[in-house]
Amino acid sequence: MLHTELRLFDKLPLTCSRKGTCCHGKQVFLNPWELACLANEKQISVREFRDLFCDFGGILLRFDGKEDKQGYPACSQYIDGFGCSVHKGRSLACRLFPLGRQIQNKQSKYIFEGSTFPCFNGCPEVLNLPQSTVGDYLIGQETSIFEQAQDAYLEVMQNLADLSFELLLDTGLAGTGETKTLTIWRKLGKSSPIELANQIGTEWLDVLIIPNLDCSNDNVIDFITKHNDILQQLAQDQFASLDNFTSIHEASVQLMRMALYLAKALGANPESFSEYWVEIAKSNGACE
Ligand code: SF4
Repeated sequence: MLHTELRLFDKLPLTCSRKGTCCHGKQVFLNPWELACLANEKQISVREFRDLFCDFGGILLRFDGKEDKQGYPACSQYIDGFGCSVHKGRSLACRLFPLGRQIQNKQSKYIFEGSTFPCFNGCPEVLNLPQSTVGDYLIGQETSIFEQAQDAYLEVMQNLADLSFELLLDTGLAGTGETKTLTIWRKLGKSSPIELANQIGTEWLDVLIIPNLDCSNDNVIDFITKHNDILQQLAQDQFASLDNFTSIHEASVQLMRMALYLAKALGANPESFSEYWVEIAKSNGACE
């Protein structure tokens, strides 16, 4: 199996837009475990939560609530005069705000890019931030398990990409000199998340975003390991016995599409990943 390493996990941005206060005008991307946590907190099914409160097929929390004074809409989970209705299950991006997280050389780094915090008015959780350490802030926000989930899903993404590589490189497809597969991989990196979701299709999207697994804080790695196994098994069932290059090409593209869509869910840059993976494939004999 070709492993393409996790080098592009350098500079993994979180996705808060910092356009308004914490729960207005942000982009909060969700990994599948975070989506399940939010649904659990809301006491509805994951499918219902996705359909009612998410965009892009379930990876972006919808912001369609009342606008704040700057005109930024509130998160769908924000209740005016109360705050977050899913506070215990809120995602990593919500917990980190106003900080961001980068991974460099497999080490987490926490960043703040502004000069003043945008949310001092009305948010008691950040009032003491200048006096406390980042570590204390993260403990207070209980980010640890959510960071574990984020990192574990990066591995799931890499595993999907590895399967895509195997179909291209280990089946003889690349050896035919065909160029279509890498051309499409590159193009997928520039596609919007909704385009990727539509192309992935309902069957695979449901397995990728709403696996039927129990979510609780003490079994996050178990959840993601099982999710990875389900995806690998489905790929095995559908793609292991393909007997023509057209089908192998389509399967490779589908798995790459899913890897890049998951990259977006994790707040990473799909275009950087696709360009990197195209170059890796070319260095292993594939043509573009
Ligand atoms: S989930 Fe909660 S904390 Fe996160 S943006 Fe929405 S209302 Fe705010």
